[in-house]
Amino acid sequence: MGRKNIGRTERWTIRLKPEIDELLEKVSRERGLNKTDLVESIIIEWAYTHGYNKIIHFNFRNSSITVWDDLLNETVELLYDISKKTLFCSRCRTVSCGHIYAAAKIPEVKQKLKRGQIVIDEV
Ligand SMILES: [Zn+2]
Repeated sequence: MGRKNIGRTERWTIRLKPEIDELLEKVSRERGLNKTDLVESIIIEWAYTHGYNKIIHFNFRNSSITVWDDLLNETVELLYDISKKTLFCSRCRTVSCGHIYAAAKIPEVKQKLKRGQIVIDEV
């Protein structure tokens, strides 16, 4: 996927049931992510929906929101699709992830959700 590896990373070895590995394999193929990035995306989603609330910097443009993810130590781009009214996370390659749930808490985004200008799947 050619993403730059910024900063330090920890290497883990985990054992998974084949069913879980196949599921990760399938979803990572669908999203066009490698399994490591998918697992990171899943953990980040879990973090942001379980009280981790450290996205502090937002930058609005016409068709995108840039957020600073403190866990990843990088910026993440959320692209607004006007016709589908969705936000697409360029990092997690999906319309529902921790970044999008975190973004839904910003007042400007809340307003757009209320008016139906943005639609976000419930967790
Ligand atoms: Zn994301």
